[in-house]
Amino acid sequence: MQNILVTGASGQLGAEIIEGLLGMGDVSLVVATDIKEPSVSLEAVPFEFLDVMDADRMTELIKNYKITQVYHLAALLSATAEKNIDLARKLNIGSLHHVLNIARDLNLDKVFWPSSIAVFGPDAKKDGTPQNSPCNPTTVYGITKLTGEQWCAYYHRTFGVDVRSIRYPGLIGYKTLPGGGTTDYAVDIYHKAINHEPFTCFLEADSHLPMMYMSDAVKATLDLMQAPADKLTVRTSYNISAMSFSPAEIADSIRKTYPDFEINYAPDYRQKIADSWPNSIDDHTARNDWDWNHSYDLDAMTQDMILNLVKGKV
Ligand code: NAD
Repeated sequence: MQNILVTGASGQLGAEIIEGLLGMGDVSLVVATDIKEPSVSLEAVPFEFLDVMDADRMTELIKNYKITQVYHLAALLSATAEKNIDLARKLNIGSLHHVLNIARDLNLDKVFWPSSIAVFGPDAKKDGTPQNSPCNPTTVYGITKLTGEQWCAYYHRTFGVDVRSIRYPGLIGYKTLPGGGTTDYAVDIYHKAINHEPFTCFLEADSHLPMMYMSDAVKATLDLMQAPADKLTVRTSYNISAMSFSPAEIADSIRKTYPDFEINYAPDYRQKIADSWPNSIDDHTARNDWDWNHSYDLDAMTQDMILNLVKGKV
């Protein structure tokens, strides 16, 4: 049975991952940690304040709760990282070092650490970016994620730490608001639509980016963590993919429910970040190694987002 500690648990992904973990047969305890309280109630889960820069406190919690696995989600996301270079470097890379050292020293069973499609820069193939592509990221966030991937591979190769990772695309869910990424518009747009308000998008109409519905992201994460170690050929981070769309296309999808929905465009500094990233991702290695498959396309996601956001309003 596994005792799991989740860092950054109060963020967009945290509550969703915790709910998924609680549904697993071999999980006996999940401990949620963050520097801020969770915005949604984490039923039946202890919450502890943990600044992931504090390695001593992390060690203490891991020992006290007899933790066997860590899901290390705390990070600064792309838009926020670009405005806070030093903090992004310290938080995104420094805290991963703490987790990897603790996993090595306390012989933890497994670690999950999310990377991002932001590891790819303008030198990568734009469409169907392959698993092993030139990366050369041009964003602060992308540099931290690419560095983190290499450290994960190093700790696996050198110390046998079983750390696993996914390059998430932009994640879209209805439970919490996103935390400062370049794909946040694709969550915010649904909140405006259900309130019958126009939406002003910070990206251009035809800016295509790889995206994924949250339930697919959770499934991918849990599937990867369950996969037999000898099936995994990638110890940096796996490409995964579900859909790719532009702001104009998500607006069209929303208009199938709200025909009068209006979208305007006021691109800001985040356009440059989006322009440096791929349009779509090739994920056949993940599909071959651990049978990854997605369920939601754009219209299926739109229907589910609207249904759940409207349900939450009444
Ligand atoms: P988020 O910004 O919503 O949540 C991050 C959480 O980390 C927040 O609750 C924040 O309070 C916490 N945090 C910040 N500094 C901390 C510190 N010093 N100590 C402890 N906690 C701290 O982010 P998210 O969307 O939940 O992302 C989770 C992970 O997934 C991140 O590593 C992110 O880079 C990665 N990811 C997310 C997306 C996406 O679209 N959301 C895409 C690719 C990768």
